[in-house]
Amino acid sequence: MTAKPNPKGSNKTEIIMTIASKRGFFYPSAEIYGAKAGFWTYGHLGTRLKHSWENTWRNYFLSLNKSYFEIDDCNIMPKKVFEGSGHLKHFNDPLTECEKCHFRFRADQLIEDALNTNVGGLDETALTKIMEDNKLICPKCGSKLLPVKWFNMMFELKVGATGEDIMYLRPESAQSPYLAFKREFEALRKKIPFGLAVIGKAFRNEISPRQGFFRLREFTQAELQIFFDPDKINEADNWDFVKAYKLRLCLAKDVNEGKITEITCEEANKELKIPKFYAYNMAKVQQFYLNKLGIPEAKLRFRELDEKERAFYNKLHFDIELDMDTLGGFKEVAGVHYRTNHDLGGHQEHSKEKLEVVIGDKRFIPHVLELSFGVDRNVWALMDIFYREEPERTLFTFPAAISPIDIAVFPLVNKDNIPEVSAEIYERLGKEFKVFMDDSASIGRRYRRQDEVGTPYGITVDYDSLNDNTVTLRDRDSMKQVRVKVDDLIPTIKKLIAKELEFEKAGKAVVAKEKKE
Ligand code: ATP
Repeated sequence: MTAKPNPKGSNKTEIIMTIASKRGFFYPSAEIYGAKAGFWTYGHLGTRLKHSWENTWRNYFLSLNKSYFEIDDCNIMPKKVFEGSGHLKHFNDPLTECEKCHFRFRADQLIEDALNTNVGGLDETALTKIMEDNKLICPKCGSKLLPVKWFNMMFELKVGATGEDIMYLRPESAQSPYLAFKREFEALRKKIPFGLAVIGKAFRNEISPRQGFFRLREFTQAELQIFFDPDKINEADNWDFVKAYKLRLCLAKDVNEGKITEITCEEANKELKIPKFYAYNMAKVQQFYLNKLGIPEAKLRFRELDEKERAFYNKLHFDIELDMDTLGGFKEVAGVHYRTNHDLGGHQEHSKEKLEVVIGDKRFIPHVLELSFGVDRNVWALMDIFYREEPERTLFTFPAAISPIDIAVFPLVNKDNIPEVSAEIYERLGKEFKVFMDDSASIGRRYRRQDEVGTPYGITVDYDSLNDNTVTLRDRDSMKQVRVKVDDLIPTIKKLIAKELEFEKAGKAVVAKEKKE
């Protein structure tokens, strides 16, 4: 069943959620037992979309430098790791509780929602004062809210038969590269900059995991930790390729008005004193969103966090924010953090293991530039940004390279050898692409169904196919159709996905008017 288009586009979140759960993108985890907020299951389409995003990310970022590699690690880590990283002490969110119904809220979010102002980085006294001055009350029952206190967001586990070991679920994938740094650096090229990426789970006991799929308690991060020489922070190997490239920045001083400054990397370096290594990586992140994921330029900005808002160890911090209708504007999906030597330094001190490197005659603890992405938030952003409503259909206009299904095969009828020929084509294409066989209901209805989940191309096998070995290839966005030889399908579709061929030139035009369903 296809979701009904909402002509006013008013309740986009609800429509996307309906499509997501009905068609198998994602839905609450353990929902038959009454799901718990902040935990979600990816269905078959969502898993594919997530993997497409992850693979695009992996291919892009790991190819930025010959010394960038990927590792995989445990989710459960010893307590000492988080003493070394500082999470046990500092990984806290401000919490307030209703005096009467005892519902707990994240205080900064509660204030921001009520007063529409940014209070990031304020301490518990300042947040309590704002709540009192503005007479904020419990949004659930209207009673008084208790003073703000800090709440540690890590999940603690008791490990071993007697539960003698206290361990924690990692709250960020970043710790894994720091712990593995020494071994990997020695096993690999011993070159700086040296990058270690992880795509893996992170766990945070979020106080209010609202916003549906956006703030989760178990989520996936894709992070690249780049270890570099701090004396070379104002150098970037490929600077000439990015120096004239314009970044879209929302500087800390302009956050309240949301003003965007478009500025070249060279100007950002000279005028804003953003070091070249940092600006270069910002350019690469922006190009990833615009060129690889096809995000419209106006929907992306880097938001600068000032000293109060960013973690104490971050010397520079820009979030990547995407403009999403479902979340009422620009929201964080990733961050570029200059974490100094905080991480390796902390682990060296607590583990007593030397984490320095020797390059030439210099011995030092590398500094870290972190490119940190929330995969699930990015998946949601794709669904928000690429969702379209047209009078006869709803669709996701995902770029072909990231859509969950590349091609749907539609046998016109289920008789006269058409299913057999379709099955052969399905099998042939399945070796190269993600293919789906859709063989029930009218052709028009099947087109709508595939549009609804963002399948860029459809192939109809009909009676002519039996005679001349051609099929109809349909383009999701334009609904145009061309006739293509079965033998040409693989190279043609490859070129279409890679945007090396215009659809109209992919075959002989078919004059087709799709019927309204
Ligand atoms: P927020 O301010 O929204 O809580 P954060 O600044 O704490 O996020 P980071 O610690 O910088 O987030 O994590 C890097 C990325 O991981 C974020 O940009 C975001 O995309 C993702 N992320 C963080 N927390 C969550 C969460 N609870 N659910 C889903 N994704 C998350």
